[in-house]
Amino acid sequence: MIDIIIIGAGPAGLSAALYASRAGASVLMLDGAAPGGKLNVSAEIENWPGQKKVAGPDLAYQMFEHGLAFGASYEYGLVEKVEDLGDYKVVVTTDKTYEARMVLVASGTVERKLGLEKEEELTGKGISYCAVCDGPFFKEEEVAVIGGGNSALEEANYLTKFASIVHLIVRRDQFRADKIVQDKIKANDKIKIHFLQKPIEIIEENNKVAGLVLEHSQTSETMNLPVKGIFPYVGLDPITSFVSHLGITNKVGYIEVDKHMETNVKGIFGAGDVIDKVLRQVVTATNDGAIAGQYMSELLQDQSLQK
Ligand code: NAP
Repeated sequence: MIDIIIIGAGPAGLSAALYASRAGASVLMLDGAAPGGKLNVSAEIENWPGQKKVAGPDLAYQMFEHGLAFGASYEYGLVEKVEDLGDYKVVVTTDKTYEARMVLVASGTVERKLGLEKEEELTGKGISYCAVCDGPFFKEEEVAVIGGGNSALEEANYLTKFASIVHLIVRRDQFRADKIVQDKIKANDKIKIHFLQKPIEIIEENNKVAGLVLEHSQTSETMNLPVKGIFPYVGLDPITSFVSHLGITNKVGYIEVDKHMETNVKGIFGAGDVIDKVLRQVVTATNDGAIAGQYMSELLQDQSLQK
């Protein structure tokens, strides 16, 4: 039996793997996507202490190598269920079942959808939730970014490398993003800000995005934007369906933990963006992972001394 299974190989999971394996625990990380989590879709990170600017995928690679440096292992695995059997836990993926003494849920969040008709069928045909992955397909085209938070503003800025105009659609008359990010947007003359506008219809032509209809939040007046690309950044939802039956999540699905990152189920922990917290950043995810990894390995040592 493995000591610790970590679900999710983003900054939280990788830091936990580093701390727990360095302290002597056997650790298996499972992830249904490339290790690195949201780092892989972040063009630039400016607030990772020690590096004034680093490309997200580069930091992901460094963290992955470091996370495995003390003996932790990594496998591809899409987790469907975690069961609590007291002294041990069962983790069921789409094709395997694992047993572990402890489980750390570090599965992060997923981008929220706009909820518009045709959004799903046109994903990959003009609609994208990843500017870093798909931005280069829109060279000299007009694109729209929806949202007023840090993600929308940072990705809008990034898209100006390729697009002729980036329309930034904000439903209120103000941003939610940090001031430093707002200042960058305002200084970028390729970004056209549309306050008090919400997207109401995606226009399709030949099975591709051909435009976006906006509605004024107060007057209900509509306008058409001739965009070929739409990048929704309207918030995030936690990935916790596989633990929803355990009673460890709050009413919006985030995992509740104590100061050791342990949930109310003994031996099941949470770390990173998936927990209920005030600041979702790479640095806070690594903090959570370090606390969880260290504490889990101490508990395992105590348990083995008691035997
Ligand atoms: P967010 O902060 O929740 O912002 C979501 C934005 O989308 C808000 O402006 C919201 O408007 C808007 N919105 C929500 N539903 C909408 C809809 N149906 N139609 C149109 N607009 C809609 O989400 P986020 O930007 O993804 O950030 C998530 C977390 O990660 C935050 O804690 C953020 O600070 C953090 N983050 C940090 C960084 C960084 O520090 N470098 C980078 C990325 C993300 P309202 O304001 O009206 O609600």
